[in-house]
Amino acid sequence: MAECIFCKIAKGETPATVVHEDDLVVAFRDINPRAPTHILLIPRRHVASLNELREEDDALIGHLVRVAGKLAGGEEIADRGYRLVANCGREAGQSVDHVHFHLLGGRALGWPPG
Ligand code: AMP
Repeated sequence: MAECIFCKIAKGETPATVVHEDDLVVAFRDINPRAPTHILLIPRRHVASLNELREEDDALIGHLVRVAGKLAGGEEIADRGYRLVANCGREAGQSVDHVHFHLLGGRALGWPPG
């Protein structure tokens, strides 16, 4: 089976515009941006979906959310407003089976999403 595209980005085997990386989390710009800021944040470890997260991942996800907030600051959207969203499963539109959070901002974002 082909290796997960986001795992390959995390390992530096597939090019991406990486804006943050540490032991737990990698963040890179979405290849098909839906807003002026559209960054994806992923756990470095492969986790297929939110459904697969375990109690021991609580610190990982907390860290990821805090990194997202810091990136929002760097993008100068922290005060204007931004959205952090994770799609889980087919009906939510999850198209890559590696947990990822979309950091979106830089324009007025509609609600609710379609
Ligand atoms: P989702 O539809 O919620 O699973 O989001 C997957 C996102 O990954 C989409 O917004 C895609 O544009 C993005 N994406 C897919 N492949 C890549 C890639 N190689 N580099 C950056 N973003 C990607």
